[in-house]
Amino acid sequence: MSGILENTTAIVTGAGRGIGRAIAMKFAAAGATVYCLSRTEANAAAVAAEITDAGGKARPMAVDVADAGAIEACAAAILKEAGSVDILVNNAGITRDGLLMRMSDDDWDIVLQTNLKGAFLWTRALTRPFMKQRRGAIINIASVVGLVGNAGQANYAASKAGLIGLTKSTAKELASRGIRANVIAPGFIRTDMTDALDQKIIDGVKQQIPLGDFGTPGNIADAALFLAGPTGAYITGQVLTVDGGMVM
Ligand code: NAP
Repeated sequence: MSGILENTTAIVTGAGRGIGRAIAMKFAAAGATVYCLSRTEANAAAVAAEITDAGGKARPMAVDVADAGAIEACAAAILKEAGSVDILVNNAGITRDGLLMRMSDDDWDIVLQTNLKGAFLWTRALTRPFMKQRRGAIINIASVVGLVGNAGQANYAASKAGLIGLTKSTAKELASRGIRANVIAPGFIRTDMTDALDQKIIDGVKQQIPLGDFGTPGNIADAALFLAGPTGAYITGQVLTVDGGMVM
């Protein structure tokens, strides 16, 4: 396979399913060596096998983004094996929805820990090598909910709004070293996460989407490839909303 990511190495968290899986496959098809990270070993292995079967380069790894020690060890192992890393996609994310007055501390903590602190830990783990090589592209997968809020998702919206602040600060701090950081804010995308929604809610949401339907994981992967490759060379600190026009 050859393409715009030839001779690059990418790390994609949450690559075992949904949006992360689509990004991993798109990057591999564009020539990158992709470290497919997921919480569940079998999911990471399945996507990596699919990539290698198609002639691409991929390595599966099981690592929990809520485990700081595991991330440091995983980053060191990848850097040792690959020599360098060029692209980091912080995609792993969860929801634990509930109304504010009933939201438990645990539901708050696990969502912030996974969605926001996980991205911080991965970014920190790669900052030094990125600075040394004076090159690196970071893409954080937030959500339109981080821009506009959502009833029943105070924890999730806070984590996604936090990701936007983290990304802009990263972009400002590291631009002089040739490192870029951007956010993709997906709207409603067809994955396990949205399959869990009630059909009534799905129908209601569709009416708020000018383009009339949920997006696909491939739509987000297209945006990620654009930001990760030379096409995104002069873009940093931005939020790219990919939502069928829902938030404008
Ligand atoms: P998904 O289908 O539920 O997949 C989530 C992925 O994240 C899985 O690969 C899962 O790993 C991984 N993950 C979850 N917790 C993890 C942890 N603690 N450590 C490591 N990996 C973990 O979700 P998705 O819809 O593709 O969403 C991907 C990202 O896009 C999330 O950040 C989500 O918030 C964001 N997003 C999604 C939508 C949407 O409509 N789907 C909209 C806006 C934003 P395992 O498979 O190994 O369990």
